[in-house]
Order: sequence, then C-alpha cells, then structure tokens
Amino acid sequence: MKLIENWFSERYSDNLQLSFRVKDQLLSLKTDFQRIDVFDTYDFGKLLSIDGTVQLTEKDEFVYHEMISRVPYNMMKRKPETVLIIGGGDGGAAGEFIKLGVKKIVNVEIDGQVVEVSRKFFPELYSSFSNPSVELLIDDGIKFMKKNKGTFDLIVVDSTDPVGPAEGLFNIDFYKDAKGALKDDGLIVTQSGSPFYQPKGLSLAASGMKSVFKNIKVYTAFIPTYPSGFWSFTMGSDAEIKPYFHNVSPGKYFNKGILDGASLLPEFVKELI
Ligand code: SAM
Repeated sequence: MKLIENWFSERYSDNLQLSFRVKDQLLSLKTDFQRIDVFDTYDFGKLLSIDGTVQLTEKDEFVYHEMISRVPYNMMKRKPETVLIIGGGDGGAAGEFIKLGVKKIVNVEIDGQVVEVSRKFFPELYSSFSNPSVELLIDDGIKFMKKNKGTFDLIVVDSTDPVGPAEGLFNIDFYKDAKGALKDDGLIVTQSGSPFYQPKGLSLAASGMKSVFKNIKVYTAFIPTYPSGFWSFTMGSDAEIKPYFHNVSPGKYFNKGILDGASLLPEFVKELI
C-alpha cells in the first residue's frame, strides 16, 4: 500500500495556492535564467512550471495558445504575414501561426533550456520549430527588439510574468521599441495576467501600451490552470483594432463568437485599464 501522495502547488499568496496531485516529477533544472520543473499530473497530463508558476499543461494549453494567436491575427485589417514571438520557447504559439498559414514566424526565446525541455516532454508543441516557416533564435527579446525597425506585422509577447527576465517586457521603453520594430499598421499583443489576482500586471501593460499606441484593446480567456482561471491579454496598435474575420474556423476554444465578443469586459476589468 502506498501511503504518500505527491503534490505540486503554485502559491498565489500566503493564504492561497492551487495544487495538482502528481504521479511523478520528471525534471527539475536551474538554468541561467530560471528554475524549470516538469510534473506528470493526474488530471492535466504533463505540466511545465517556471519559477514555481504554471506555464502550460497538456490538457489546457490549447486555450492560451489559440487565444494569444487567433485573436490578434483577426484584429488587424491586413492579414499579418510576418510574426515575431517573444518567449514561447515551448513552441505552442508558433504552432498556432503555422496553422493560420503564416509563412514568416520569428521566435525569440531567452532560455535555450526551455526549448530543450519542450523537445523532450512536449514534442507536439516543439515540432513547430522544425517547420520551415519558423526561425528560432535564442536571445533576449528586449535586446532583439531594438535591432529591428519596421519589420513585423504582429508581435506576440508570450512571456513569463513580469519578474526576472520578463520584467522589461512590460515597460514603456519596451513598447516604444516594439512600435519601432512593427510596420506602421502593426499590432502587439501580450499576455497580461489574471485581472483578479494580478491586477497590477494588467494595469501596467494597458497603461504602457496606451502611452505608446493610439489604440489598445484587452480581452480575456478561461484558462483553468492559471491563477483564478481568468486570464487577460492586451493589444496595442496605431491602426484600428477590431474583428476583421480573416480566419475564424473553430479551434478547441476559439470561434467566431469568441472573436466577436472579445472586447466585452466585466466592469472590474474595465476599471483596471
Ligand atoms: N504560456 C505561458 C504563461 O503565460 O505562463 C508563457 C510560456 S513561455 C514558456 C514563457 C517564456 O518566456 C519562457 O520560456 C521564458 O524563458 C521566456 N522569456 C522570459 N523573458 C524573456 C525575454 N526577455 N526574452 C525572451 N524570452 C523571454
């Protein structure tokens, strides 16, 4: 008889945590940038955690990856042809842009070890990096942004939360550099945290983008394994941000109605932006 149960818990505060019962810990690694863990959980399949926070699970990664790609793709008047992903070392976001038929996807991930971990434990997501449309660079997204001028239609910030290497991905200087790297009608989208548990993250992204771009738009998605299960994304552009319905074929989460209703926000979220 086995008496010991193993659990992985993400601490939200001193008084609150989300716990997953795990069959096994598959990896624990300290890189130059962060700590990476992979667990085999009972209910969500394999789970990738960075610095103790859930990045993805096999069972619900589709929500985050569809929503960080398909919403901005359809919110630009011109179909985006060149996409830059900052972070996203698991390959999930790149995979969605491949499905959308984008032919030039540059993915800049700071930590090569995240890519290695994905190769080993999340091969379906990792397989994006062998697609000829995708160029993977191991570099700091903040530095990379400064080197590119007027190059991209769409920039996707698929990063960890605004602490450690990702801190600089949420400030005004970064958004200014992003504007420089975008074409005139380009758009940037960033994951901006849980409006309920991390209201400062959303306010930071929204106020930063507002001071650099003419228009911003926030949308949300239900992601069971992220804090509160309710997640926000923030977009900025000098062009009008609204649904253009280039490709609204249903995914597992995304559909035309979700795109249509993407700017419907609860009052407490509106107050943060
Ligand atoms: N879906 C995730 C979430 O919101 O929890 C994000 C997943 S993805 C694994 C986040 C990636 O951003 C990590 O692999 C991390 O190394 C990368 N990252 C953090 N700061 C970065 C930077 N300055 N430049 C490029 N990548 C960065």
